[in-house]
Amino acid sequence: MTASARPVATAVTIVGAAGFALAAWWLVPWGAAPSGLTPVPASDVFSATEVARAEAYSRWALTWSLGSLAVSVGVACWLGFTTIGARLVAHLPGRWWLKVVLAVAACELIGRVATLPFSAAARQLRLEAGLTDQAWGSWAIDVLLGQAVVLVVTSLVLLVLVGCARRWHRVWPAVAGLALACFALLASFAYPLVVEPLFNRFTPLPDGSLRTSVLELADREGVAVDDVLVADASRRTTTLNAYVSGFGATKRVVLYDNLVDDTPEDQTLSVVAHELAHARHDDVLVGSALGALGVLAGVGLLGLVMPPRPGGREGVPDPARTPRVLAWLAVGALLVSPVQSGISRSIETRADVDALRATKAPVPFVALQRALAIRSRSDPTPPALVQFWFGSHPTVLERVGLVRDMT
Ligand SMILES: [Zn+2]
Repeated sequence: MTASARPVATAVTIVGAAGFALAAWWLVPWGAAPSGLTPVPASDVFSATEVARAEAYSRWALTWSLGSLAVSVGVACWLGFTTIGARLVAHLPGRWWLKVVLAVAACELIGRVATLPFSAAARQLRLEAGLTDQAWGSWAIDVLLGQAVVLVVTSLVLLVLVGCARRWHRVWPAVAGLALACFALLASFAYPLVVEPLFNRFTPLPDGSLRTSVLELADREGVAVDDVLVADASRRTTTLNAYVSGFGATKRVVLYDNLVDDTPEDQTLSVVAHELAHARHDDVLVGSALGALGVLAGVGLLGLVMPPRPGGREGVPDPARTPRVLAWLAVGALLVSPVQSGISRSIETRADVDALRATKAPVPFVALQRALAIRSRSDPTPPALVQFWFGSHPTVLERVGLVRDMT
């Protein structure tokens, strides 16, 4: 970055951050819980044996996932904030764009190899707890596919950043920020069509009483649903889930096949009502818009933390600095996690409240929350800091607490 790019980087940071704060204040349903989120005692929902089993599993699951995170951020910082990454890139062949793609691939590969033992340990733990019966070969294909998606997306992001910084010395933070904000929106829109089919097969929910009830519920909640899809998740997991993805023409409600096959219909409808609430409020679009503004602010900040070096062309425009950009992205993602999680918990709380209002069926709701937690062995009382930083949903005891507050 030349010194004259700093004013633009500052302006982009301020516009992005202010836009994000305003949009978050306006669009996020803060205070969706009628009387705050108050957990019920664990003993109201689970037996002592169930709690002990969940805690034993969660302790190790958390160890592996936090370990993996620490190693991946640590490796990114080691490559980016020492001279090691830059020296590595110096050996790479080709023009700037090829160097950038190869640098991303090398850094991602080193990070992936370093975290592989944690992923394998986590998979072994899930296998032993009966949460998956996926064979190692098919698991390895998932890991490779997941890594390929990360590689493509990260390379595109870096190519836009470096390309803009090389082309527009002064205004690149604005150009790259806007381009990547649009890319974030587009990626979220295209995700159900491009990425999800790589991992699962989707079939329409077959005709029958469940399909009829789902469409009736959608009608009552005023949600236009073209189709409800079933994903073949059972080949990978025994846990239950459902989600909404995409927006506009790509919006879809997806149920895991094991939720359709092994769950009583009133409980499945409780999940569907939750997902329909997301669809009705366009929560995916809201999340994507917030993400896009966050990206804008992030690119501005990147312009500020990667100052110019003598000679003017170093910093972001220099492919040798790609490992440093990746390190800042890793640190940034970790630091914004509590904000993302807090927003997500508010949106999830509103979906629960709406589902309870729409179905007027608190008993299946509680039975379902219990089943979800037992199946996934989730800790009813996760460490407060972990829940604050990474918890995308209220805890199971908080969700059951909603029922008590609303009835
Ligand atoms: Zn949800």
